Amino acid sequence: MPGFNFMSQNSTIMEIAEKYKPLWALDSVSALLEWDMETYMPLGSSAQRGFALAQTQLIRQERMMQLVDLAARAEKLVGLNDFEKGFVRVLKRDLDYCMKVPPKLLEDIIRTATEGTVVWREARKNSDFSMFQPYLEKMVGLKRQEAEKLGYKGHPYNALMDRYEEGVTTNDVDKVFSPMAPALKGILDKVQSANKFPSTHPLEEIAYEETAMKRVNENVLKLMQMPEKTFRMDVSTHPFTTSMSIEDVRITTRYEGKDFKASLYSTVHESGHAIYDLQIDPSLDYTPLSKATSLGVHESQSRFWENFIGRSREFVKLVYPTLKANLPFVAPYGDDEVYRYVNSVKPSMIRVDADELTYNFHIMLRYELEKKLIGGEIEVSEAPSMWNDLMEKYLGVRPQNDAEGILQDVHWSGGLIGYFATYSLGNIIAGMFYNRIRKDMDLKATIAKGEFGKVKDWLKERIHRYGATYPPKDLQRKLFGEEYNPQSLINYLQEKYLA
Ligand code: MG
Repeated sequence: MPGFNFMSQNSTIMEIAEKYKPLWALDSVSALLEWDMETYMPLGSSAQRGFALAQTQLIRQERMMQLVDLAARAEKLVGLNDFEKGFVRVLKRDLDYCMKVPPKLLEDIIRTATEGTVVWREARKNSDFSMFQPYLEKMVGLKRQEAEKLGYKGHPYNALMDRYEEGVTTNDVDKVFSPMAPALKGILDKVQSANKFPSTHPLEEIAYEETAMKRVNENVLKLMQMPEKTFRMDVSTHPFTTSMSIEDVRITTRYEGKDFKASLYSTVHESGHAIYDLQIDPSLDYTPLSKATSLGVHESQSRFWENFIGRSREFVKLVYPTLKANLPFVAPYGDDEVYRYVNSVKPSMIRVDADELTYNFHIMLRYELEKKLIGGEIEVSEAPSMWNDLMEKYLGVRPQNDAEGILQDVHWSGGLIGYFATYSLGNIIAGMFYNRIRKDMDLKATIAKGEFGKVKDWLKERIHRYGATYPPKDLQRKLFGEEYNPQSLINYLQEKYLA
């Protein structure tokens, strides 16, 4: 097979690797179907596409079950190297899910997600939670069943979070969020009174031509040295990154016609995700290891590029010429002013538009709410008002309707419950990277010179090349000697906003 060069001295592992290839292919096909659904698919075929995706999943699950005996044998092997151990661990996790979650439940979840997403779109358009409520009730019920089937220690929510962030529990997240909330609140209060960073900026309201903004984004991709043969960028309402293989990674960005920073930083953010996927060692292609280790670690890469690099003074200076050349309305503002614009701070309703400082509060709110829903502490009908109360508690603003409150995110309609915390864990890990990388290089000078190859190599060597070989906690311990410590992020924000 072209490029297939995963090697192990162990015949059981090699036998599994051979049998895993069709599963890898099904994942690749699903990824392409999903990518197409969000970019080019005619809207009228969503039901058929949902069916095709669900069937692909079921075939995958069936096929996966054929590996049960081999995986059991592999689990007993001793003297394996790290890659082989990772191989067996990831396979076992995958298999565990297939064995514990009955096909009927999986099908119910996928169908409810497909139907629910369509209804959610309508509900959000009409700002009417009652339309979506029965679907969310059904989904929460199904996810609680899923948690019961998967099994857990402590809170049932742990079973769901573990799917996205291996080994992370509510205890871990509570331990991270409880010191982070007051620390960030303290910084936010000071920023708002100091007026060093604006809460709104005239550049937010100036319209741009999509073709001009596209040229800016393409130039930014060039600056970031994104590869031309294995990477592409398209357009979708909600930007995302997907990987068909290590040699085919795609991002999308968004064009809303004004406030160009949203488009610019969507591009940088998703490119950060793509760099991770592209830099996994090619020998891991076609194996269970050819993916990121967790959503939190994946998000740490996108956030590192978007915020720590992208929103730095040096990066803004670097992209300023292309901004000025393509968006003539930028010219009256110097790069210093553009820096202030892209770093404006304002407690607002919508998570995807939130700044670096207020973003994590949006996550804490969702985490708290999900935990209570899955734990059965609150009913779905109580969620909208609890959402609004938490917004007021954390950010001092209260949504005036469901569209700017509980209906804003696509996740719950798609069954992604247990996912949100990974966004903040990603910010936290990005902070740890920022702290660590500066021991090896002068990051500001590197950005100023546009030497992003150096940054990429650094990240590749320490994290990307391993794919899913090490679980997220192990990877962090190996690199930082600790895991999910929010202090580096807090220090960075303090320095950036208050120094
Ligand atoms: Mg992301």
